[in-house]
This record gives sequence, C-alpha cells and structure tokens, in this order.
Amino acid sequence: MTTTHEFWLAGRRASGDGDFEVRNPWDGRLVGRVAVPTEAQVEEALAAAVDALPVFAATPAHVRTAALDHVAKRLAERSEEIARLITAENGKPIKWARGEVGRAVSVFRWAAEEARRTNGETMRLDTDPGGTGRFAVVRRFPRGVVLGIAPFNFPLNLVAHKVAPAIAVGAPIILKPAPATPLSALVLGEILAETDLPAGAWSVLPVPNDRMPALVQDKRLPVISFTGSDKVGYQIMDSVPRKHVTLELGGNAAAVVLADWSSDADLEWAAARIATFANYQGGQSCISVQRVIADATVYDALVEKVVAKVQAQVTGDPEDEATEVGPLVDENAAKRVESWVDDAVAKGAKLLTGGTREGASFAPTVLAELPSDAILATAEVFGPVLSLQKVDGTDEAFAAVNDSLFGLQAGVFTHDVQTAFRAHRELEVGGVIIGDAPSYRADQMPYGGVKDSGVGREGVRYAMDDYTQEKVLVLTGL
Ligand code: NAD
Repeated sequence: MTTTHEFWLAGRRASGDGDFEVRNPWDGRLVGRVAVPTEAQVEEALAAAVDALPVFAATPAHVRTAALDHVAKRLAERSEEIARLITAENGKPIKWARGEVGRAVSVFRWAAEEARRTNGETMRLDTDPGGTGRFAVVRRFPRGVVLGIAPFNFPLNLVAHKVAPAIAVGAPIILKPAPATPLSALVLGEILAETDLPAGAWSVLPVPNDRMPALVQDKRLPVISFTGSDKVGYQIMDSVPRKHVTLELGGNAAAVVLADWSSDADLEWAAARIATFANYQGGQSCISVQRVIADATVYDALVEKVVAKVQAQVTGDPEDEATEVGPLVDENAAKRVESWVDDAVAKGAKLLTGGTREGASFAPTVLAELPSDAILATAEVFGPVLSLQKVDGTDEAFAAVNDSLFGLQAGVFTHDVQTAFRAHRELEVGGVIIGDAPSYRADQMPYGGVKDSGVGREGVRYAMDDYTQEKVLVLTGL
C-alpha cells in the first residue's frame, strides 16, 4: 500500500482529511498519495503566518542566509533522489530533472547572497531649501504574507523561485504546489523543516483548485505570486485588484534566424538549439520554441537540419539516461496537442515530421506553412510542436515575432551587434537571447513577460523587490 504524504502546516507535518493520487505520466504508476488540508488547517496556517510576520521580518539576516545556505546544501546532497522524484511525478527526462535540481540549488544560493545585500539607501534631501538639515533612509519591508502558486512543469525550481526570495526578505509564505506534481515541493518542506526559521514562516499546502478562490480572496494574503496559465492568472488578478499580484504566464516563444546566420556551422547550432528547446520536457516550458521565423536565404537549409535533428531525438521512458523527450503531463494534454496539430493540418499546414500520439506521449512535431486561422498560430501549444515561417529580412522577422498575444522571451540568431540592440529595443518580450534559442534562463535574471505573458518579474532579486515595499524615514535637524 502506498503511504500518504503529509503536507507542511506552519513548518510541521500534518495529515488532512482525504488524499489525492499522483501518477507517473509515463506508465500511469501510482507515485504517491498526498493528504488534503482541511479548511481549519488552512486557517491555522494563515493565522500562524500572520503571527510570524513581525518575527520573521525582524529575523537577523545571518539567520535567514544560514537557512537558505542550508537548503541549497541539502538539495545538492539529495539531488539524485529529488531528480528521480521529479521524473516520476512530472515525466520529464531524468537528465532535465537533474538540471532542474541544480537550478533550484542555485536559486537558494542566490537568495542567500541577495539577503546579505539588502542594505537600502540613504538620500540627501538638502537639494531644496526646505530640505536643509534633513536626509532620508529608505529601507524595504515585507508587504505581508505571500501566497505562492506554482505550476506543474518545474515542480521544484518554480517553487524555489517563490520560497527562496520570501525567506531572503523575511516574508512568511503559503506555498500551493500544482496538483499533478506536489511531491518535490513536499520534499523541499522536509529540508526547510531542518532550519531554524520561525514557526509560521512557511507552509506547503496542496489545497484543491476549487478551494483556491477563497484563499486568493483572503485579505491576510496581500501578495500573490502566481506561475501558470494566462487563463487562471488573469482570473486571479481580476478578482483581487487591490492586491500585489505577479503573474508569470505562458508564451509561444519565437526563435529568429536572420540572413547573416548562414554558415553551415551557424545553421547546425541554430537547428540543434531549436530542436532541443522545442521539445525538451515535451515542450512544456513557458519559453519552449514554438515558432521558428527564418530569413528566406537560410530557410531551406535550416528546415532540413531542424527536421533531421528532431527525427534523431530519443523519445520514450523518462527514466532512461538517453531519453531526450518524454511524455506530457497526462493523456489529456497529449490529446489536446494532437487535436491542435490535426486542426492545423486540416487547415493546410504541412506536416514535416511527427504528429502522432501514444498515450500521454506526443511525437516531436515540425510544421510549416501554418495558416493564420489554425489554433496553433496564436495559442500556447505547451507540447513538442514547432512551426517554421519564412520571412524576407529583419523588419518582417521582428514584425512576425511581435505578431503574438504573448511576449515572454525571443531568441535571435545574428552576429550583428546593431541588430542585437535593435532586437532588444523592438521585440515585445521580457527578454531577448542573442545567438541561442529563446529558452535560456539564468535564475538571477529578471524573468517575466509582457502582453498576455504576465505582469512583474521573477529572478531572485526581482521577486524580493516584489515581496517588499520601500518605506522612507526622514531625519530632520542633522
Ligand atoms: P494552471 O494555470 O493550470 O495551474 C497553475 C497553478 O494554479 C496550479 O497550482 C493550480 O492548481 C492553480 N490553480 C488552478 N486554478 C486556480 C484558481 N482558480 N485559483 C488559484 N489557483 C489555481 O497552469 P499549469 O498547467 O500548472 O502550468 C502550465 C502553464 O504555466 C503554462 O501556461 C505555462 O506557460 C505557464 N508557466 C509560466 C512560467 C513563467 O515563468 N512565465 C513558468 C512555467 C509555466
């Protein structure tokens, strides 16, 4: 019999009322059962977090940095076990799961570094006669208890991006992991429980989705940090206009290959990066390559290389070391992707490879000549599907990137520094990656989108800013 995993209520383990199953997307195997917190337990966690707020905010930086350093160290020590758990609950190939744990370690290390540097600033006020003899001290203080809501696709690292900055600034956090992938967040809870953080500073509560609106509305949670779909994200933001809400949402990221990126070695690199980052984690990354926009002069050579590389990708059991592309999160997700590819082909798109489904696995797929009325032309596919578009010149290429409801990141393959700066100015995205796919992210970078891709930025220091607010102290007669 599988044991039921307890959740974390104000730093302590707790069993709830009832449980739910977590299944392996690859073979449907039961990975674990997770206890569901009762309403009274959620209330207890909230009350404890509110009580912890003044205590935690006043905790010395050395205590918070010691806790963050400890978490980084323990995640690193337990990395193989946690990577295997991520693979089991999420279905991502083991090599990518190992990479995710490494990134979570880095997030906690960065948070420890940044927590040492929250110095605030002083400001002279004697720039006007009325300010003679005055100066100001500006410091940041937590806005209140944070509600962190995480998606399934990076079950550890996107949780780390919510928890580590909260600890760095001394803001209590209630973390809500995704229902499909709560187990790695619960293991993070085990590690957090080894630290000396005050009781109430953190809880990990797998609250069912239908009970989330009440939590979102709760006035004791003035900060909401949400990562997930645009549908749920904007629903949350619209329902709580007075709260400080950060939304990290979806995208249909573009990789642009310009005319100067034309040598055989250039195109080999671009094709390799595009193929890898269209399909890694089954295309379930918010910055997976979904659209390839290539200059007409390099288009044919690029298409040939991209298709060859996609066809060479090893698909299958995510626990195999060689597997590059595993299943999607569940069969319904794969069926949705299948129906969108069928829709595109029925409307005239050319299927260059892939297009088939087996259970929760969808074959890496390349399309060309995607008609503008296909669902795939505008929506986020969140699956291993890319489409190629031929353009004439940089103006047309950049216009094509911007012809999207989303704007998270774009990749531009060019050697020209002027074009790089132009891309930075003109592309309607939160980040531009030159010489690589749009899917590069370092965890200290400001990360987030424009348009329907969200509001605000994550990246350790930027989330710390989000969780806090400046407060000014004016000193007179000095
Ligand atoms: P989702 O929106 O379905 O769920 C996200 C989280 O919200 C889950 O924890 C879910 O349980 C919770 N939730 C569901 N209904 C809710 C409600 N009414 N109120 C409050 N919370 C609710 O997203 P998902 O399928 O888990 O994740 C995939 C999406 O996340 C994709 O769109 C992807 O692009 C996006 N994403 C964005 C980023 C980013 O940083 N921009 C990173 C990863 C994933």
